[in-house]
Amino acid sequence: MTIREAVQKAKKCLEEHQVPDYEIDALLLLQSVCGIDRARYYACAGEELPDADRYLEKVLLRAGRIPLQQITGEQYFCGLKFIVTEDVLCPRPETELLVEEALKKMKEGGRFLDLCTGSGCIAVSLLCLGKDLTGCGCDLSAAALRIASENAKLHGVTDRLELLQGDLFDAVCGTYDMIVSNPPYIAAGKIDTLMEEVKDHEPRMALDGGMDGLDFYRRILKDAAVHLNPKGWLLMEIGYDQADAVRSMFDEDRYEQVRVLKDLAGLDRVVCGRRSD
Ligand code: GLN
Repeated sequence: MTIREAVQKAKKCLEEHQVPDYEIDALLLLQSVCGIDRARYYACAGEELPDADRYLEKVLLRAGRIPLQQITGEQYFCGLKFIVTEDVLCPRPETELLVEEALKKMKEGGRFLDLCTGSGCIAVSLLCLGKDLTGCGCDLSAAALRIASENAKLHGVTDRLELLQGDLFDAVCGTYDMIVSNPPYIAAGKIDTLMEEVKDHEPRMALDGGMDGLDFYRRILKDAAVHLNPKGWLLMEIGYDQADAVRSMFDEDRYEQVRVLKDLAGLDRVVCGRRSD
């Protein structure tokens, strides 16, 4: 089978299964499985594809609506490559805003805590891109922590990242200059309305924010101040319609400079505040 024939077969199969952006995914899988990038595909489409079977096997997985990143095993975030499996939420581009803002607030260095670290994309990016930072990443899922640890290794930051298993602050002791988190924030009843890739293949515990999606913000705000150093920052990613609810949870006596930041799509995406004493 030629490269062109294989790609045509892949596109047809993905289209039949209503895979969003199926033409792009057919080419991205060709690159990931066979090492043939788009330029080479256009130049050499008439050549034989020796590993066509392996390619079409992966295409079938994608037709089953497994996220592309779980098939290729990777996703870029903040310009860095991260290992991704079905045990972690796939890093999203809008989460880069949280990292960008955290870096601005930690220019002088310091120690941060990343709650619900998942793949570790936030913590590892902070350590790679910031100066004089050390961090701690927590997650309830041991499987997720294994991926976070691999990602820390991949980027050579294991000596600056402690990983703890526990429910939010349960395993945490001590205080930090900053707490960051992208917690689960989808209302439980809404999960079934999400894309198949997300609702059927991403870890439910990374999505489910309880009845109204706000459970983690309530629990984090309850305990964050005691784990922050004076004037320490708390930054959390939020859903596009959660800004008012989460902003009002920041207790005025304990936090100042509370702000909501918008992502590149113009949607409310990050809430931050500073311990006031
Ligand atoms: N902190 C991880 C991320 O931003 C995981 C978030 C989660 O599991 N809700 O991708």
